[in-house]
Amino acid sequence: MTPGSLTVAGIGPGSDAMITPEVSAALAAATDVLGYIPYVARIAPRDGLILHPSDNREELSRARHALELAAAGRHTVIVSSGDPGVFAMASALFEALESGPPEWQALDISILPGITAMLAAAAAAGAPLGHDFCAINLSDNLKPFDLVLKRIRLAAEGDFAMAFYNPRSRARPGQFADVLATLRAACGAERLVILARAVSTPEQAVTVTTLAELAPGAVDMRTMVIVGSSRTRRVGRFAYTPRSA
Ligand code: SAH
Repeated sequence: MTPGSLTVAGIGPGSDAMITPEVSAALAAATDVLGYIPYVARIAPRDGLILHPSDNREELSRARHALELAAAGRHTVIVSSGDPGVFAMASALFEALESGPPEWQALDISILPGITAMLAAAAAAGAPLGHDFCAINLSDNLKPFDLVLKRIRLAAEGDFAMAFYNPRSRARPGQFADVLATLRAACGAERLVILARAVSTPEQAVTVTTLAELAPGAVDMRTMVIVGSSRTRRVGRFAYTPRSA
């Protein structure tokens, strides 16, 4: 049996123009592509390629399945939106590797980076992440919500700009209001906020506003929320953070 391979590849925030050449090459050589249904839908079908779409709460079983396929000699690619190492499949793969048979660790495994939503959103708005910043996942699927609020308070104390992934879902509509209240208390109501929805797709919408004006209903799961530092300001239609603190 010829040895298989397993690649975890980032396919960027939406536009095919943001897929790196090395990810395109891995997809062209793949025999199997696994991933969350809407991400696998972005991969063109072709002879010799098997697509394995799955639901989004199935990361660990998807990772195990990909490892089994690679161990059986297949050239397997797991696709993630954005970058696979940012709140995505690369960590799930290593969790499966850690708890799986030791022989899996000898497989040909590579992680190919992609353009994460945070960076595409920041670029669309100007340069709000031009000085120190942090990225926080607002989903409480895998951590308690109290910890989310604690990290926001400490990031505000450190005067970091903050990029929020998974800001709001139908399953937890009230939590974003708590996030907003925490931010207003810690940063003041006049702090700049960028809402960047569906970046790099035809539905892209980028708004620069303030914590005072931000309505929770303006935010959904296709939105990146970037809260500026105390130095972040507007210039024309752009928002940017100067390079000096
Ligand atoms: N691995 C992905 C992030 C997965 S978490 C990455 O690196 O981008 C999913 C969250 O990413 C969404 O809830 C949203 O906050 C953000 N996101 C993904 N694609 C986006 C896009 N095109 N525009 C704005 N936000 C996006």
